[in-house]
Amino acid sequence: MELIVAEVLSLIIVSSIVFAHKYSRRSREKTKEDSLLWVTYTSLAYLLFSILFHLQLAGIFRLSLPMTRFLSIIHTISIGAFILMWMLVIEQWVLQSKQVLSLLTKLQVTLFCLFSLASMADLFLNRLFQFTGSRLSSGIGVPSMLLLSSLYILIAMVCLVVRWRSITVFSRLLFSLIISFLLLSLLFFQLFRQPYLLALSNSFILLLSYLVWQRKELTLDRLTRIPNYQAFYDKLVHTTLHKERITLLMVDIENFRLINERYGTSVGDDLLKVFATFLKELEGEAYRLVGNRFALIFPHLTHNELVRQVRSIRSRTARGWMIEDILLTFYVNIAIVETPLKLNTADELVESLEFTLSAIKENRRFSVIIFNQKLIHLRQRRLEILSVLRKAVIDTSRVIVHYQPIIDVRDNRILCAEALMRLQDDRLGMISPGEFIPLAEQVGLITKLTEIVVDKVCTLLSDHQALGLALSHVSINISAEDLVSAEVAQRLLQILRRHKIDSTLIRFEVTESMLLSSLKSSQDTWKTYQDYGIKFLLDDFGTGYANLETLVERPFSTIKIDRSAVSNSRNQYQLLKVIAGMLTALDKEMVAEGVETEEQLAAVKEAGITNVQGYYFSKPVSEQEFLGFLTESVCVLPKHRIVNG
Ligand code: C2E
Ligand code: MG
Ligand code: MG
Repeated sequence: MELIVAEVLSLIIVSSIVFAHKYSRRSREKTKEDSLLWVTYTSLAYLLFSILFHLQLAGIFRLSLPMTRFLSIIHTISIGAFILMWMLVIEQWVLQSKQVLSLLTKLQVTLFCLFSLASMADLFLNRLFQFTGSRLSSGIGVPSMLLLSSLYILIAMVCLVVRWRSITVFSRLLFSLIISFLLLSLLFFQLFRQPYLLALSNSFILLLSYLVWQRKELTLDRLTRIPNYQAFYDKLVHTTLHKERITLLMVDIENFRLINERYGTSVGDDLLKVFATFLKELEGEAYRLVGNRFALIFPHLTHNELVRQVRSIRSRTARGWMIEDILLTFYVNIAIVETPLKLNTADELVESLEFTLSAIKENRRFSVIIFNQKLIHLRQRRLEILSVLRKAVIDTSRVIVHYQPIIDVRDNRILCAEALMRLQDDRLGMISPGEFIPLAEQVGLITKLTEIVVDKVCTLLSDHQALGLALSHVSINISAEDLVSAEVAQRLLQILRRHKIDSTLIRFEVTESMLLSSLKSSQDTWKTYQDYGIKFLLDDFGTGYANLETLVERPFSTIKIDRSAVSNSRNQYQLLKVIAGMLTALDKEMVAEGVETEEQLAAVKEAGITNVQGYYFSKPVSEQEFLGFLTESVCVLPKHRIVNG
């Protein structure tokens, strides 16, 4: 009777697991946890048969002889079934190679089918299971089932041992526990013919596994049902801890936002799902990190293997997927990091991947980049510059402003100047803005830097009144963030007020690209500056962003034609002439940037441009040198003579 009570209790536990599992599922897609459900189903069947069998043995109800034999045989088969299911779960979890897994599964399932067929046939042959009356007395049926189950356990044990180092400590513990419990229970059953332990330990390990898998659910991405960032990070911690050699790929879908905007988020979601499924089918482990960003972890790949994997991803995405009758093709950027690297924590690996991906996005020349020595140096340099930046916003003496004169070529007089920022560091020397401005924008330090530059320019102008009289203005470059924020506008204007600077002496240079990114949101702030009397210059015109409408709509006082147009000598400077002609027609003031040679100067003059900035006249120079241009009424530069107005 105790046996039946134990089995009924186990049945309740197992049934609750089935219900909980069924109702907690959010998606209908197949996952590894589904295999646990199969264990639960077979356990349920085993318990039902077992309870019926034991009730019948206890005389609670009577069955005909053939029915008793049938129940007894099916009960034996069900023991083999749930043990097989358990072992398949373990193998599926630990084995990486899909071929080995499928081979092993086929082998074990075939053996099981053969055993089941033979057992069912024995209903008529009476050889494997021999009965005395209604009791199973002897025969090789039960020992064969025990042997077969032990074989399954042995196979799973071998898989576990082989893959021991590659699985998490947690999985090791759980799988070892499952195997030992089942082995012990089988032994107990063999020795005492008592299935107590089998029923109890099975429901106990099922419950335990269910709890573990519930926890696992937290590391699954809800949409794509592949492991999420947390699982990825955990795996990296594991591999770095065990110094495993791995190849990491970060895969980013290019322009995914456009797909969402054009076809709607449900199409976008479906695309992410099919893409995730495709990645999952590859040999590595696939993860969805965030949004349109995925990762793959492979055991270390040789160069050829890596090329093959990358090619297969790129060719598959280029062929695209049909989603709601729309063929969606797309490109991917792939950042690759191979371990071992010098510094190898999970954080560093993630950061290296992100750094490599940003390198792809920044220079746009390659869509696949391997994190190599050059990038390691680049990242190192970036970190160093970041540290200089952080120091510079506190100790403003590290921020240096250079001035580059802008010349009126009709009389070679200095008309105005552009203020250009540099960072000074004892170890790194002078750092150019091309290096630190993008970084400062990324980390949100740019407005602080702008404030420092505006303050320094204002200090110079207020300390040297002659400068203000001699120059029409000094222009300062400002970033998109400065242009958008009303708060920043107030702070910058406050600096001008504090120094009592004539507002027409300061102008702001805005690049075409930043204008594009902040066109709508900047209207009001733009007006705040203008009301105060500050004019704007459009910088780097001709680099391909601004459209003519922007030119006409926005009241730029001056357009600065980019160096690329000025130095483009093909077709006898036709591009420069066309741009200058158009700006003249629009009645815009112009400055030609980056004039370096006599020939360029001649072309600029021929195009009708009178204001010129460039190395031909002067590089950006220090405050002192720049003041020198003014104090000497005639200043002699290395090559040329500039007369101060
Ligand atoms: P930009 O505003 O277009 O400034 C002109 C850049 O061209 C300067 O580089 C200048 O040194 C360089 N240049 C001038 N004439 C010639 C020439 O004849 N040949 C060549 N090859 N180059 C010439 P720099 O100082 O390295 O500044 C680069 C960019 O960094 C600037 O381009 C500007 O976009 C940004 N920047 C500089 N200072 C600041 C700042 O204070 N704030 C912000 N937000 N950006 C700044
Ligand atoms: Mg500029
Ligand atoms: Mg420029």
